[in-house]
Amino acid sequence: MTIADAASMEREHGQPLGAGLYIVATPIGNLGDITLRAVDVLRRAALVACEDTRVTGKLLKHVGARVRMLRYDDHASDEIRRHILDRARTEPVALVSDAGTPLVSDPGYRLVRAAREAGVSVTTIPGPCAAIAGLTLSGLPNDRFLFAGFLPVKDKARREVLEELGPVEATLVFYETGPRLVRSLEAMAEAWPGREVAVARELTKLHEECRTGPAADLAAHYRAHPAKGEIVLLVGPPVDAPSTADPDALLATALADMSPSKAASAVAKTTGLDRKDLYARALELKAR
Ligand code: SAM
Repeated sequence: MTIADAASMEREHGQPLGAGLYIVATPIGNLGDITLRAVDVLRRAALVACEDTRVTGKLLKHVGARVRMLRYDDHASDEIRRHILDRARTEPVALVSDAGTPLVSDPGYRLVRAAREAGVSVTTIPGPCAAIAGLTLSGLPNDRFLFAGFLPVKDKARREVLEELGPVEATLVFYETGPRLVRSLEAMAEAWPGREVAVARELTKLHEECRTGPAADLAAHYRAHPAKGEIVLLVGPPVDAPSTADPDALLATALADMSPSKAASAVAKTTGLDRKDLYARALELKAR
């Protein structure tokens, strides 16, 4: 049975598609990842609110949906939001982003909030999401994770965010771009030398890759082999408490990329050990 068959079967035997706003997740690279419900809703929607009509137009063509599109992002005027919600009161209106789950680092938050406030029915059609795909692929602990979106571009702002997130006892999930990957990894090597990091790239596509290790090693790798495509950057939870962490191992990792002074500060920050002692030890390790 093809996706098209299954979707039309569901349509024939299912309930009529009611009015309301439908949040529809779409593939993050592999078109085969579209869900049966997503196909069904897109085909039966009266209107599709989307970020880019060219991108969504291709997807709609692929699934055989002939439906009007309206460009929408959260910077749209209140008037456009009102127009979409007015339609959603009487007809099914789908909200999609260029790829993945709307609202996750993508437009839709203001529209969904406005819909709920206005009493318009909101339904979610879940599906692909790069953050979750990266998390499951990375092998990092997933019992607790925190999605932190994109890191700031400027060094100082990025450092501040890393400082704020440092103590969080969870795997951290960031969205990243190729040109900024090495700078982010360098900043993480400085802030969190002992933590395990994963770079999940081109998920669901031909060149899918997931590389793990300390941030300093990954920075060295991607300096030599610049990363292309789309990236999820993940960082495992903070390393063990000072009693069980191996300061020599942490220092050795940090020294691969930093001066003894910076390495001592970074390891002191993550372990709580005395910076002066760590500095002395870093000089010894460096001299070996
Ligand atoms: N809403 C989308 C989702 O649910 O994944 C994310 C949209 S956000 C604007 C785009 C970012 O998601 C990219 O810069 C990248 O960090 C990540 N991303 C999207 N597709 C990806 C893929 N196939 N592989 C790795 N990361 C991806």
